[in-house]
Amino acid sequence: MSLKEILGIEPVINCAGPLTRLGGMPLSARVTDAMAAAGRDSARIEDVQRAAGAYLADVCGAEAGYVTAGAAAGLTVGAAACIAGLSPAAMDQLPDTTGLKNEIVVQRAHVTAYSHALRVSGAKLIDVGYVGFPGQGITWGWQVEAAINDRTAALFYSVGSAEGIVELPELVEIGRKHGIPVIVDAAAALPPKSNLRHFVELGADLVVFSGGKAIGGPQASGILVGRSDLIESVALQHQDMDVYPETWTFRDTYLNSQRLPGPPHHGLGRPMKVGKEEVAGLVVALRAYLEGDEEKEIRRQREDLLTISDYLSSTRSKAVLHEPGEGGRGFPVLEIYPHFTGDPGKSISMLINSLIDGDPSVAVSQGLMHRGGIGIIASALKSSDAHRAGERIAAEVKALT
Ligand SMILES: *Cc1c(COP(=O)(O)O)cnc(C)c1O
Repeated sequence: MSLKEILGIEPVINCAGPLTRLGGMPLSARVTDAMAAAGRDSARIEDVQRAAGAYLADVCGAEAGYVTAGAAAGLTVGAAACIAGLSPAAMDQLPDTTGLKNEIVVQRAHVTAYSHALRVSGAKLIDVGYVGFPGQGITWGWQVEAAINDRTAALFYSVGSAEGIVELPELVEIGRKHGIPVIVDAAAALPPKSNLRHFVELGADLVVFSGGKAIGGPQASGILVGRSDLIESVALQHQDMDVYPETWTFRDTYLNSQRLPGPPHHGLGRPMKVGKEEVAGLVVALRAYLEGDEEKEIRRQREDLLTISDYLSSTRSKAVLHEPGEGGRGFPVLEIYPHFTGDPGKSISMLINSLIDGDPSVAVSQGLMHRGGIGIIASALKSSDAHRAGERIAAEVKALT
């Protein structure tokens, strides 16, 4: 069956990468088979998570791991863990943080649209650092340190290409000095796959990755790895807690041992639940990602981009292929700048709209719109679609220039 048969909609040729608004990365048959197989069985979800978490921890070199409903959900439940710790009363109270540690210190260069996910926990973001000094922006370690007080729950670091920031090793050092965990958003920091271990090795206390981006797992999956006490708090606030003390799976671990006064009930993370299908899909996708040849995949993407670029040679445009590594990206990007005669901002948005609205529908990266260009990313593109994509992009560029 196809999306067309199920919902009556045409699929999009994806030249924009595994974006959430395009449904993420197309899944391999190995991953969809795993999801279908998991869907046919019943199991205690805590057992499912425990087994998957142990695998994620092993892959990432972390104490513990957990499958979340995406990296953004990982930020929310991770922040909730930093605030509530192992207190069932605090878990029960969230997202109301009255009387709790609720501040997360963020460098201004790391305030992104995704930091909203931290605030969903009830946390208040305390941003520090300059915007625009001396260049794009800068933060000093003492600015982070000055923001720390007895309400500080965590420090936040977003992996990206911002310059002049307090880098992760220094942030970790500040966190350790004050006994405050560091949460790292590494959602899109793959490839290279070595990053799965990198931020944990640098001392981050919690790290999130998207399952549905480069890993090729289900769109509604994410990896959260880090300190075991924080992951325990995440599990307690995330899993279905329609439980009785006497029969709770974890009665020995938490109740008979007197670590908790009673089981917490449905927590802040419950609306972000993860199905066993997503867990199975993510685990199998991660296995395949680790087995995969990263260089070969990049060569495949480069070839598809060159195929598309060939179609552009007969148009009034400039096409430039950027190799992985440029701009902090782990994959190649084809940048296309049409030679418009009119208003560049308007024309480029017209190009993007006509590509997505046409037949076949083609989605391109909008990240260069402010510079009058479009980006072509092949990581979520089926190679069999490269020629059709090139034809359509070239035809639309011709029609607009
Ligand atoms: C994609 C992304 C997220 C969100 O990841 P999901 O898995 O879609 O929830 C968070 N932060 C950054 C930097 C991202 O690129």
